[in-house]
Amino acid sequence: MKVLVVGGGISGLSLALALANENIETEVFEQNDFVDTTGTGIQLSPNGSHIVEALPLDGILADIGTAPQNLQVRDGITNKDLCSFSLNSEKPAKCSMRTGYYHVARSSLIELLSRSARKNTYVSLHAKQEVKQVIQKEDSASIVLSDVEVDADFVVGCDGIHSLTHNSAFKQRQKRWTGFVAYRILCDLSQVPSRFAECPVLSLGPYRHIVTYPLFHENKLNCVFIVPESEESLESWSQLGNRQQLHDHFRLWSPDIGDLVNVLPEDKLFKWGLYRDNSLKRYWNGNRIFLIGDACRSVLPFTAQGAALALEDVALLTRFLCRWSNSEDKGVRFRHYSAKRKRRTIQIDLMNRACQLSYHTPRMLGKFRDYSLPLGYVAVKKIVHDFVI
Ligand SMILES: Cc1cc2nc3c(=O)[nH]c(=O)nc-3n(C[C@H](O)[C@H](O)[C@H](O)COP(=O)(O)OP(=O)(O)OC[C@H]3O[C@@H](n4cnc5c(N)ncnc54)[C@H](O)[C@@H]3O)c2cc1C
Repeated sequence: MKVLVVGGGISGLSLALALANENIETEVFEQNDFVDTTGTGIQLSPNGSHIVEALPLDGILADIGTAPQNLQVRDGITNKDLCSFSLNSEKPAKCSMRTGYYHVARSSLIELLSRSARKNTYVSLHAKQEVKQVIQKEDSASIVLSDVEVDADFVVGCDGIHSLTHNSAFKQRQKRWTGFVAYRILCDLSQVPSRFAECPVLSLGPYRHIVTYPLFHENKLNCVFIVPESEESLESWSQLGNRQQLHDHFRLWSPDIGDLVNVLPEDKLFKWGLYRDNSLKRYWNGNRIFLIGDACRSVLPFTAQGAALALEDVALLTRFLCRWSNSEDKGVRFRHYSAKRKRRTIQIDLMNRACQLSYHTPRMLGKFRDYSLPLGYVAVKKIVHDFVI
């Protein structure tokens, strides 16, 4: 069996390595260079990190990521600590996570995956190869590059939020503006107020929230500010944001937040418009063409599950493809696979909505929200982070 992978990001490279573990050959076509340029960190919860750790890697996650002990939750207005949740403790009393929770720079993760793929004889990487079209055939599928068509048993679209595979092989994707934007930045750890430099912090206040976490390997602090804005923004990972505009969002918050915003270098501050993906309830796969990760559906970032879901896709699709040849009723197997991922996507979507409501609650309901946080965290842990494929 041979599989062509469109896109060499988190899901594409992980899929190639997972299939290599099963002696299945892949060719990965990436329009850029297998280098991440988004300049962001990601929170990799155990449901995703365990899948990465099972890949044939040339290194380990602990070499590139920080495994934080706790998440500190703060009131963004008064700057008081509200509670703390354990992220990696082995024997926690309450609200503990399965271990294996990492904060990593996306660039380091892509570097680890691409280095491992390059060394693997089952994987061929093709950089600077933009796929122009994918074609479903009777018993195979192919991709079209600028001057050649390549055929294989399966094509898997791992080409992210603006997926060509999605739009070429399936219906055009429909997205709806949510009215929220995420300002995000990776800045030098040495420049930020010490209250943010030591551990991950979730700051909550009316209609807005902020997540910050240190990436000690890179000496950076990753910051994400999610705020409502009336003007529609692009769903882009490279559009620059305006620091004054960000500052204005938090003018009634604690001065600590203003101090943090003031030291952020504006040329590294990005603004990402958040859109709701209306194809969430379908889980796209054709006979010979599959979509995984953001190409399939992009979820809102309230539970930080985009990459983790993509990795779950990788694990399940690998299992599906391994059993494909021996399967008697391929149609049933397809439907079973599809239904499983659809259920899971809906689950994460519901958790995202719940977190959005809780994190962005009005001031008058803030106290109620604060008391319910531990319960909410147990739910997120059980449903989201501790999920095993
Ligand atoms: C600021 C930010 C913070 C995030 N934080 C988290 C987090 O904390 N936790 C989490 O789990 N997720 C997080 N995510 C989401 C996560 O990064 C994505 O869900 C994840 O990268 C999806 O992986 P993917 O492989 O589907 O797509 P990507 O990693 O985006 O890879 C797609 C690849 O396809 C390539 N490509 C596109 N079109 C073509 C083409 N036509 N031909 C060839 N190549 C092509 C692209 O160049 C790219 O390399 C975050 C995202 C952002 C932007």
